[in-house]
Amino acid sequence: MSTKTFASQADLVEKKISFDKLSEHAYAYTAEGDPNTGIVVGDDAVLVVDTQATPVMAQDVIRRIREVTDKPIRYVVLSHYHAVRVLGASAYKAPHIVSSQDTYDLIVERGEQDKASEIGRFPRLFNAVESVPPGMTWPNITFTGKMTLWLGKLEVQLLQLGRGHTKGDTVVWLPQEKTLFSGDLVEFDATPYAGDAYFKDWPTTLDALAALQPAKLVPGRGAALQTADQVQAGLAGTRNFIADLYSSVTAGAAAGHELRQVYKQTIDKLRPKYGQWVIFDHCMPFDVTRAYDEATKYADPRIWTAERDQQMWAALEG
Ligand SMILES: [Zn+2]
Repeated sequence: MSTKTFASQADLVEKKISFDKLSEHAYAYTAEGDPNTGIVVGDDAVLVVDTQATPVMAQDVIRRIREVTDKPIRYVVLSHYHAVRVLGASAYKAPHIVSSQDTYDLIVERGEQDKASEIGRFPRLFNAVESVPPGMTWPNITFTGKMTLWLGKLEVQLLQLGRGHTKGDTVVWLPQEKTLFSGDLVEFDATPYAGDAYFKDWPTTLDALAALQPAKLVPGRGAALQTADQVQAGLAGTRNFIADLYSSVTAGAAAGHELRQVYKQTIDKLRPKYGQWVIFDHCMPFDVTRAYDEATKYADPRIWTAERDQQMWAALEG
């Protein structure tokens, strides 16, 4: 058996970037399955949802924003704590960096370890990593459950609708335009990363997103979803992947199988249906490990360190 290169260290091909207008005030910056950024242009200010992985990468988002508006960028919203979403924040020079309190708590608890781990897993996604300032990206406004921002007459709701991709997941909802920025709770043609997930909660949280009845949805990865059918496909695809993976892992664990055996069974089961999604081979070892933990004895995700990443990979892929 050949050994797979760790995580995405062999993924070096640049992606094509799209900048799409979704509704009167909403734009999506997407990149063929690389992490997306959402943009809301209000009456008096701009709000950015997830920052890109480095300040140099964020500069390209700013360049696109400046093609459509010269209003000041006042808000950066972090959908969750992952490094690839937050480490570009300093480029925007926004006075307000907003997250859920749960996301803030995760940055305190595991932000440093996550930063080292993520940069090691996927170097291409951290272009010009030397432009990231030392330390963490600290939110200076936090909320629990729901927070409403008014950008002039435009209502912007920040909603915590349940745990899923992480404990602190926040979606950004424009009720007047029925446009939703989901963060990594929803992916499209991209494999959901679930190494820090709550498998039992995630489908219920997706039901809560669906209940908003979004007309447009910007997923964490993949193309912007611009019709009701596309939105449904994004929600259903993510829900099916999470449910299929977790039911395979719980069945294996209940049968008393070791993690490595459960991993092999689960990747064989899921590959025909999901193997064409980007980062499938990257995500599966992390996703199955977390699912096995949740199915056995760890209610909360264990912290990934660069060392734990390598040990896990060697155990499952070596
Ligand atoms: Zn994430």
